[in-house]
Amino acid sequence: MTKAVAADMDWNNLGFKYWDLPYRYQAVYKDGKWQKGGLVEDSNLTLSEAAEDFHYGQEVFEGLKAYRCKDGSVNLFRPEMNAKRMQDSAKRMCMATYPIEDFVAAVKEVVKANQEFIPPYGTGGSLYIRPFMIGTEPMVGVKPSKTYVFRVFATPVGAYIKGLTPMPYFVSEFDRAAYAGTGQAKTAGNYAGSLYPSMKAKGEGYADCLYLDPREHKYIDEFGGANFYGVTKDGQFVTPKSDSILPSVTKKSLLEIAADLGMNPTEKQIKMSDFDQFNEAGAMGTAAVISPVGSLTYKDQKFVPFSETETGPYTKKLYDELTGIQMSERPDKRGWVQKVEL
Ligand SMILES: *Cc1c(COP(=O)(O)O)cnc(C)c1O
Repeated sequence: MTKAVAADMDWNNLGFKYWDLPYRYQAVYKDGKWQKGGLVEDSNLTLSEAAEDFHYGQEVFEGLKAYRCKDGSVNLFRPEMNAKRMQDSAKRMCMATYPIEDFVAAVKEVVKANQEFIPPYGTGGSLYIRPFMIGTEPMVGVKPSKTYVFRVFATPVGAYIKGLTPMPYFVSEFDRAAYAGTGQAKTAGNYAGSLYPSMKAKGEGYADCLYLDPREHKYIDEFGGANFYGVTKDGQFVTPKSDSILPSVTKKSLLEIAADLGMNPTEKQIKMSDFDQFNEAGAMGTAAVISPVGSLTYKDQKFVPFSETETGPYTKKLYDELTGIQMSERPDKRGWVQKVEL
């Protein structure tokens, strides 16, 4: 693949795609420990055809962003939470865990080394950072790998779904993750299984699927790559409590922001049949930020919580506060933001 050239980037129309930037970070686990890692230039990995991840899927990943602020400085948002979650995902997949401090340091190194690719302030873009880990040991018997590669690459992205445009969603008859399965781990297999329902929904004109709980298909779980929230008619922020969803950093942050905004937030089981209690609803995650649900189609019923074209006032407030903190434009009273030394 040809290397990206900063001077050629169309910052206002980045979309969400991969660019081969100059540097990525790599560390290798072997002989029972992590070897000293560092920046590398080659975006390709050479692996055995029998590498564990190709066959039995030992893979975990993360997604976070670096934000360019008005004064030119660069922010990360709660990167330790991504590091900790990657450890939790790795434990579930029987993989080695990568130390939290080393994860954050690797992310900062990658951001610094590729800083000319951080989209300028005001374009709505950011540098999306993708840490991941794979099992690399050659094997044919099913067992955990004894060797791993940890890598962090980055790519400049625009707003995943152009900021705050309501989208049509579809309640899937498929499951994203099994009951007592791997829904809490950020692992490739959950996504592989979601491609079919997601492509089907997209083919029918929807932005993506909303999944119900895999045991009873009665409660709202989450979207394919983002958690769900609703705002009740009296302004309460509600988000699902479920063991089969991914614990989202954005969700955890919005729960605290919603409390500040007097929205009396709660995490609880939400019956699909109670969806009409919501006056606003949305998807939340690092990539999507906040994406309002314009409509939600369940079986033959179409629900419009707020409007198919306009964003509701609570959603707007939550979005402004979250993105304001991320860009150092609103007070960061909880110390969520870290500057990257450039
Ligand atoms: C990554 C992810 C999210 C969002 O998590 P954030 O930490 O907010 O980015 C939500 N659901 C799934 C399935 C995910 O993989």
